[in-house]
Amino acid sequence: MHQIACHECDLIHTIPPMPESATARCVRCGALLLQSKADSINRTIAWTISGLILYAVAITFPFLAIKSGSIVQQTGLLSGIQQLFSQDIIPLAVLILLTCVLIPLMQMFGLLYVFVPLKLNIRVKFAINVFRLFQHVKPWSMMEIYMLGILIAMAKLGKMATIVPGLAVIAFGLLIFVLNFAITAVDSHMVWERLEGEP
Ligand SMILES: [Zn+2]
Repeated sequence: MHQIACHECDLIHTIPPMPESATARCVRCGALLLQSKADSINRTIAWTISGLILYAVAITFPFLAIKSGSIVQQTGLLSGIQQLFSQDIIPLAVLILLTCVLIPLMQMFGLLYVFVPLKLNIRVKFAINVFRLFQHVKPWSMMEIYMLGILIAMAKLGKMATIVPGLAVIAFGLLIFVLNFAITAVDSHMVWERLEGEP
């Protein structure tokens, strides 16, 4: 049993375990309280594994190749961050490292750590803490902004040199969507119920 306050009229409701694809509405004002998601566990795991594959591609393959005359310079996500560090642009390097490299990876491992045991009906330590952390870092993933920055840089550099987008750019762009799908597939009410309901 969970207690939830209506976000429209603040009436407190006690919500029993909900079947899949069910909605709970406020008894006083009819506002939507909760919507349980169909097949949340399988969909979250599937999107997260796809995300990890894309992530591996985005990290290992070249992001951009810059051709100027006979000189070709390839940059990857990690080597780009390394260059920022070596040029003493440390706040930006740290920001990109956190938001584009570490947080997405933490999110994906966190989701698997919580959802795979739920799928297998086994209990793991710290699942509640991991899920709580996942919900806290959610707004801090800013890969979209980084992607936008790359597109702007490509457009600007394009006047001076030939820019060839690498495989990693495509993987990174897809990863933004896939990670979003994974996060939206998460039915947090169901997860809390399962995690807290276990003995
Ligand atoms: Zn209400």
